[in-house]
Amino acid sequence: MGEELFADIIIDISHEALDKVFQYRVPFSLRGAVTPGVRVCVPFGAGNREREGYVIAVTEQAKYDRDKIKEILRISEGSLTVESQLIQVAAFLKKRYGSSMLQALKTVMPVKTKVRHRQEVTLYLKLERAEAEALLAGWERKHRTARVRFLRRLLEKGRMSKEEAVKECRFPLKEIKKLEADGIIRMETRVAYRNPFSHLEKKEDRLPLNEEQRAAAERFRQDYMTGERKTYLLFGVTGSGKTEVYLDMIGTVLAEQKQAIVLIPEISLTYQTVRRFYERFGDRIAVLHSRMSGGERSDACERIAAGEADVIIGARSALFAPAKKLGLIIIDEEHDGAYKSDSSPKYHARETAIYRAGLAGASVVLGSATPSVESFYRASQGEYTLLMLRRRAGNAALPSVYVADLREEFRHGNRSVFSEMLKEKMRERLAAGEQMMLFLNRRGFAGFVSCRSCGTAQKCPHCDVSMTYHRNGRLRCHYCGYETAFTRQCPVCGQPHVAAFGLGTEKVEAALYQEFPGIRVLRMDMDTTRRKNAHQEILAAFSRGEADVLLGTQMIVKGHDYANVTLVGILAADMSLFSQDFRSGERTFQLLCQAAGRAGRGEKPGEVVIQTYSPEHYAITAAIHHSYREFYEQEIAFRSLMGYPPCAHLLVILVQCGEESSAVLAAMRIQKMIEKSQEGEQEPVQLLNPGKAAIAKLKDMYRQVLYIKHRDAARLEELKNRLEPVLEAHSLFAGVQIQFDFDPMNLY
Ligand code: ADP
Ligand code: ZN
Repeated sequence: MGEELFADIIIDISHEALDKVFQYRVPFSLRGAVTPGVRVCVPFGAGNREREGYVIAVTEQAKYDRDKIKEILRISEGSLTVESQLIQVAAFLKKRYGSSMLQALKTVMPVKTKVRHRQEVTLYLKLERAEAEALLAGWERKHRTARVRFLRRLLEKGRMSKEEAVKECRFPLKEIKKLEADGIIRMETRVAYRNPFSHLEKKEDRLPLNEEQRAAAERFRQDYMTGERKTYLLFGVTGSGKTEVYLDMIGTVLAEQKQAIVLIPEISLTYQTVRRFYERFGDRIAVLHSRMSGGERSDACERIAAGEADVIIGARSALFAPAKKLGLIIIDEEHDGAYKSDSSPKYHARETAIYRAGLAGASVVLGSATPSVESFYRASQGEYTLLMLRRRAGNAALPSVYVADLREEFRHGNRSVFSEMLKEKMRERLAAGEQMMLFLNRRGFAGFVSCRSCGTAQKCPHCDVSMTYHRNGRLRCHYCGYETAFTRQCPVCGQPHVAAFGLGTEKVEAALYQEFPGIRVLRMDMDTTRRKNAHQEILAAFSRGEADVLLGTQMIVKGHDYANVTLVGILAADMSLFSQDFRSGERTFQLLCQAAGRAGRGEKPGEVVIQTYSPEHYAITAAIHHSYREFYEQEIAFRSLMGYPPCAHLLVILVQCGEESSAVLAAMRIQKMIEKSQEGEQEPVQLLNPGKAAIAKLKDMYRQVLYIKHRDAARLEELKNRLEPVLEAHSLFAGVQIQFDFDPMNLY
């Protein structure tokens, strides 16, 4: 019968109580049935009062004197609550991505901010109309003007809020209470949830779906209605109208009294996006995003839990919305890097969504114009069902794409940021009064500071990364925020030759004014969007035609729809190709396609100019041909050759310590442990030598990294689970932080 089993249990689960864990013995009869997420009854406290709690873990280790550990009484009735689902999701996060159960629970459990809800009191007439009119006549005769004013208005409107009665009708609360006591009016109180979109209106007219859209939506509907729950990849070119398909799918699920979660990358979670959902579903939607106040978030979660909101729109973490009747999870722009968490547990929303959907009996729809290599691979393996939209909705043509070879330009003596071709096309747009978007791939490269004389790059004293020059004359570290004054004098060779290199958005802006006097430019980058609504204000100004050019980084490529934009210029397409990362080709292709997709969305056809130093790279040629297939075939061959995801899986162990030697020592010990664990294995994991991370120091912590590869994800999971307790217990590792990452988005 083996070891005794113990369960960690949280009573009254809430975000605040997550670290209050009690241990109970699992009775033999409940073995196998007591698993994370199950709700149980236990004797609690000195009086052994019966309480309910959730199991969060089952172990063989007793944390206290075995004889003092009480036993679980039984499994609660109807134990499949949304909390139990979320605890199961937390257990999945811990197991797959590596983190403590507490970290995992904190990730999935909504924070409840204690807020006092505003009470909304509505007054109704309790009498029959005729009776009320008689009463009114009586009051008029007695000149009871306040009562007359109040009752007239109430008769007119049928109902009135308490505020309106007191403030606008100048009818005191005391009088209202008297009328209530006399049975003349009735008061109804309800909780007023904050709804930041309450001023928007639901619209009844909707676009009829085109044939491709209808086919995709219909396929989903038929599966859903026959009880098939799958993961779909909705692969639709930019402008093909994926959102309309989502809306239709949500409609299918709502008609079955189920709820839907829609994930959107934070940055495209704009007013415009939310409005499209609002217009269809009205106040059945709830929005969750990081700029909300605690109270707003709490309100939204309560409405979701109460089933008052059944369409939940939000960024990555909205995945954990407490929806009890989940029927569908949509992940828009599923290729976006923001769907991977960058703190422990470093979960990917896509995998996690599929897991949660499995528990809830829900479907998952992944949508993109440039699917992640992972998702397309799974679709081609038949694991996901592929739904295609090949044409733009309303039949706008895809833009024509031209390439400008920057090496040629340089040879011909063009030292400007803009190729001759791009300049030419920009002049045409200016003359025609059409708009353009100029896109600068990646900000990191810009403003890189080094000494022209000795070549020393100026680095952050806390991080092993170069500082960035800002026009305000300061150097800044984008990792830790450290700032210092810029000086020309080199700290190493003493020569006054330190200067900023590279192409920043600020520099391009200056070049635009020089090249095209009088041009109107809106710049959108991390610096101009720091304020709360800056992002939206810039986009709104651009859509009102207040500028000829919208100039920006990554953030301008997402989800914006401007009919008057007929030219997109990509200034340096290959900057992201130079990084060592195995995803750099994918990222470049996606950025180019998404950026190009902004052109020609209206009546007028669009053009795109891609400026590059490597026009022969497949990520660039495929983007020019609008050919995902062309890109994918090359990319999957490369991943397969190198054993990178999705062809194999990658577990990263990041070792960090303030003492460099301790970090190195710990990494070496872990390497030994892994090697030992693989002895005699048929197909051992592949361990790449541990060494310094690409960013060898961050926020004063030295970083060592180990990469472990295997075809089978389960093998890596098993290895990690075997290492975790050893690493926790081992004294050598005190003061050393160890983090896991599974199938990382970036190499470390
Ligand atoms: P995607 O997300 O696939 O890039 P959107 O959903 O933003 O595309 O739709 C692009 C544009 O096409 C929007 O302006 C939308 O209103 C329009 N559109 C979508 N579906 C239709 C349709 N069936 N008929 C006409 N216009 C449509
Ligand atoms: Zn720093």
